[in-house]
Amino acid sequence: MAQGASILQNKMIVAGPCSAESESMLQEMAELLKSQGLHYLRSGLWKPRTRPDEFEGHGELALPWLARIQKEMGITPIVEVAHPKHVEKCFEAGIKNFWLGARTTINPFAVNEIVQSFENKAQLVFVKNPMTPDLSQWVGAIERVRKSKVQEIVAVHRGFSHFYEKKLRNDPFWEIPLELKKIFPGMKLLCDPSHIAGLRQYVPEISQMAMDLNFDGLMVEVHPSPEGALTDSKQQLNFSEFQNLLQSLQLRSSDQGPSVELEVLRKKIDEIDQRIYELVAKRLELIDQVAHHKFKNKLTSLSYERFLSSLEARKEIARKLGIDEINSEQLYRLLHSWSLEMQEKAFHLYSSQNFSEIRQ
Ligand code: PEP
Ligand code: MN
Repeated sequence: MAQGASILQNKMIVAGPCSAESESMLQEMAELLKSQGLHYLRSGLWKPRTRPDEFEGHGELALPWLARIQKEMGITPIVEVAHPKHVEKCFEAGIKNFWLGARTTINPFAVNEIVQSFENKAQLVFVKNPMTPDLSQWVGAIERVRKSKVQEIVAVHRGFSHFYEKKLRNDPFWEIPLELKKIFPGMKLLCDPSHIAGLRQYVPEISQMAMDLNFDGLMVEVHPSPEGALTDSKQQLNFSEFQNLLQSLQLRSSDQGPSVELEVLRKKIDEIDQRIYELVAKRLELIDQVAHHKFKNKLTSLSYERFLSSLEARKEIARKLGIDEINSEQLYRLLHSWSLEMQEKAFHLYSSQNFSEIRQ
């Protein structure tokens, strides 16, 4: 395993602020990119905000800033476009590199309209995955962009929205981008660790995971002083954190093909285990409610009849799935004894305190 920024030369690294807040911050960012031998500056001008009345970007006001940096510094700016008007304004300013955000790729009408406005003049177009874990929508958006003869399309994996609070802002579901890579083997696939992580402390581990899975590069949010950023302040890296990230990433040499494959399989297993544990946690929540009901109605924690019939039902599920019955039985017995233990603890709590105060 090699280490250091120089080994990233075969990877495409795109970095820059979530939104372009001022010309000077873009200038500083462009200088940082140059010092690292990088070329691609991302920055949002029209920001798609989930809630109204938040900073929605400087829009076309920021275009001359990027145009100057492009001309004077030889840096390639990449801008999110969500409407044909955005594309038109970018072309007027000489900006020809775009990305389609997750809220756009989810909508085929929007993608069609934007693609038509490219008029075969767009150069690099980055297509982020849609908000929901739907591979075919992502494929469809890429196919639509392909129709407009852009010079190059790059897919960007930014994770998928979920309903409840978790460690990461977005679920990575790594199998989805890897499946996309199989469908479009010649297309570059980048990872956006910032939107997956949601918190800057997790950006390095997500970036490393993407490298282990042989992604072709990263799109990272970087800001001169992230704490005061007007958008996504928690997930942006400051300049030294970004430099450290570039230094710390480890790449596997390409002759280690089989271990990349093994890595992919292990990541899939990790994700399945994550989901199994989340389901166990939900099961335990229900057990807690059952304990409450039983205590209130003076029922015993164990109903042996119910246990036997449930065990038979689980064995039947195992038979139908073609998985080993003995191991499946052990799994159910473990879940059941865990449940009894929880109920006993809850009973103990209810009898040692005033039950009506604990719960209604
Ligand atoms: C962004 O890159 O700042 C952005 C809004 O991304 P996404 O579309 O992935 O949410
Ligand atoms: Mn952002």
